[in-house]
Amino acid sequence: MVAPSVADTTALVADVAVRAASPACQRDYIFSYRVPEHLCPVITAGHLVWVPFRQQQMQGVVIGLHRRQATALRDLIDLVDPELSIPPLGLALAHWVARAYYTPLAAVLDLCLPPGIVQQAVTTWRATSNGLNYELGSLPERERSILFYLRRYGEQSEVELRAALRGSDADLRTAYRALAERGLIARGMRIDPPRVRPRLERVVQLAVADLAPALAMLRRAPRQAAALRWLAERGDRQPIALAELRDATGIDMVSVRALARRGLIALFEREVYRDPLATLTPPPDTPPPLTAAQREAYETIVSTLEAGSGGQFLLHGITGSGKTEVYLRLIARALRLGRQALVLAPEIALTAQLVRRFAARFGNQLAVLHSGLSDGERYDAWRRLRRGEARLAIGARSALFAPLPELGLVIVDEEHEPSYKSDAAPRFHARDAALQLAELAGVTVVLGSATPSVESFYAARNGHLRLLQLPERIGGQIGADGLVHARPLPLPPVRIVDMRRELQQGNNSIFSAALQQALAQTLERGQQALLFLNRRGAASFVFCRDCGYVARCERCVAPLTVHYDHATAAASEPVNVLICHSCGQRAAAPVICPQCLSRRIRALGAGTQRVAEAVRELFPQARVARWDRDSATGKDAHGKLLEAMLARQIDVVVGTQMIAKGLDLPLVALVGVILADTGLYLPDFRSGERTFQLLTQVAGRAGRRSEGAQVIIQTYQPDHYALQAAREHDYQGFFREEIAFRRALAYPPFGRLIRFVIANTSEAGCRKQAERLASDLHRYISERDLAGWRLIGPAPAFFRRQRDRWRWHLLLRVPADTTHREITVALDALGPLTGWVIDIDPVQVL
Ligand code: ADP
Ligand code: ZN
Ligand code: ZN
Repeated sequence: MVAPSVADTTALVADVAVRAASPACQRDYIFSYRVPEHLCPVITAGHLVWVPFRQQQMQGVVIGLHRRQATALRDLIDLVDPELSIPPLGLALAHWVARAYYTPLAAVLDLCLPPGIVQQAVTTWRATSNGLNYELGSLPERERSILFYLRRYGEQSEVELRAALRGSDADLRTAYRALAERGLIARGMRIDPPRVRPRLERVVQLAVADLAPALAMLRRAPRQAAALRWLAERGDRQPIALAELRDATGIDMVSVRALARRGLIALFEREVYRDPLATLTPPPDTPPPLTAAQREAYETIVSTLEAGSGGQFLLHGITGSGKTEVYLRLIARALRLGRQALVLAPEIALTAQLVRRFAARFGNQLAVLHSGLSDGERYDAWRRLRRGEARLAIGARSALFAPLPELGLVIVDEEHEPSYKSDAAPRFHARDAALQLAELAGVTVVLGSATPSVESFYAARNGHLRLLQLPERIGGQIGADGLVHARPLPLPPVRIVDMRRELQQGNNSIFSAALQQALAQTLERGQQALLFLNRRGAASFVFCRDCGYVARCERCVAPLTVHYDHATAAASEPVNVLICHSCGQRAAAPVICPQCLSRRIRALGAGTQRVAEAVRELFPQARVARWDRDSATGKDAHGKLLEAMLARQIDVVVGTQMIAKGLDLPLVALVGVILADTGLYLPDFRSGERTFQLLTQVAGRAGRRSEGAQVIIQTYQPDHYALQAAREHDYQGFFREEIAFRRALAYPPFGRLIRFVIANTSEAGCRKQAERLASDLHRYISERDLAGWRLIGPAPAFFRRQRDRWRWHLLLRVPADTTHREITVALDALGPLTGWVIDIDPVQVL
């Protein structure tokens, strides 16, 4: 990249983002270093390097290279590994994310590198020769123990010394200094090897062209001869794993080495990738002919892909309308054009089922990235993508930072999912950042959803995104030609049941009469049912019917949740325990209200356990399974449940939102929502949107393949627009109501929000900090007379306590066209906001 300069009074200078900052820290450490001569031809922007930093050696990423006068600069030490470099597009994206979410660049760059490669230089101490012979008794106690320890165990890092000797850092540092001044100990430095490295395997390769003389030589070594013959018979003469040769021929290591010594075979090592998909054998997959709607969407998107001009699309199609098939076709096209592709999906949707579908089309061109992988697997996936050997990455939100030097297409599936927003610094939104790729590098970006976020749909209506629609569900049908043909399938009817009426009619069970009847019918026909709850745990809150007392966690104030504890129950009668979902604290359920001594203190609402038990009471012959975070533990629990469903080993699944997502269950004929109200009145401007999305998604689980399916939603608020719209499968109707509400209150997309959260062990302290920031903000706004900037709060957060700390928050609402620059200027002006969590464009404000 760098042209050799003529009059060389200048040097190549690298600007390096040093990894000295923690993600919580709000400033950048960017320093310039002179590049030593021997690195000039190889170093590029994006390389991970070692640099001197204060007294230490640190890792950092080169973010820019230029020639200039460099006499005052220190020398860059070395590349960590020539292969570890972030591609240019990744660097550009990291810059954008750092700016947009007010985070130090180094924290974002960390996400661009594989995990497990981070190394730190640590300071060490060792005894000098004077120290080895020194009379220990004459030293003060602390110094004596340090010297004694170093003499006995050799060189130690400061961390190891602290662990062995206890004591404060300050005390120890004073003692080190005193010992070093007397020449008894000396400082050193150590770098531990990275946690991950390439995995190597030993391979053998035939090294002779003509077999006959070799075999003659081996007349007295029949085993060696047999192995050689086996290798020759394989024909292709490619290196193969030593283990494979040994398995096939039973040859021992001594004979293998003898063959190598004679020069008949070559024995060496080569890298093997740790590939979590290696054992996955996807079924053969022939792409079906596209429906007219799919074809239109495909062709529109492909034209920008071919032009490489960058495009931003919203693909709106109900569940089962064939969006994934469109993605698969687009990816195939991108790969044929020599580009790489990226698919983002919510973590929870990254099931074996989805991955298998992509693996069936793209085989070993695919690299999967998710949190369930080992560091080694992720490191290998990273390098396969960086090298361009893998052409398609699929993963959750952090896969956005996968190294894709030839990226041409990004798909963001279920773009409305809140999990695309990171809940730890950097608090980026993967969808919003992905859209930037279109502008940064002409990448084609496709957002897909059955229930687009209000922001995205609004952007589509205004022409900022191009809207493409798949209005009908596809029902696969095997035709006379043996191929699967598309056939429109009507959406299942949705019924809303008013639970207030049920109570008036004397039915106080969990199930309305309608739902009971539908369940009976479904079971009779040998079909499957899903019962959905918006919360985990058994019967939710414990509530006094007389005085309104609610059992709460003493530490977190959050309402406690009831669980049935079968393990502690000696008899068949289950015992109630209360669990706090913020801190995990357990308590026994009260029998008498501590406030008014009433006995009418009971659980309100029902959890998955309670519902599962109620189903078993009504239908003792039904096979019932639970599906929530408590029961779905262990590797691939999701996959196992799915298989049991497909094999018809389960009749009824009772679950939380986890069942709403991504599962394709062809035999489900009934979906029941036990109580839709949960979540509707949370103090969050997105609660209506979330409820609509969730209900639509759950309802979409019914009747994926056959007609005659139905959905029943139970509620105490049947008139709420989110429920009414869900009943009619009416996204537009929902959007009309929701957008009017957002406009009236200037919430997104009509304004932007910046949320500030502070946590403190003292509530008074918390409040004081919040009030101080509020008054600083008020001053900032009024001094500059910023139109449309408004402060909401400060107030206690809805989750008032978490992990023993109180939480307060404030919301700053600014006009929709406020730039990152303006926000950064404001935040900088407020001074160091130490301890504050700053969430720009939050997806939830609880
Ligand atoms: P979505 O992603 O919108 O939920 P899918 O792409 O998963 O929809 O499609 C739903 C079902 O229809 C899948 O089983 C898929 O294999 C099938 N399918 C999709 N497109 C076609 C098509 N053009 N012809 C036949 N079957 C199709
Ligand atoms: Zn009471
Ligand atoms: Zn608690």
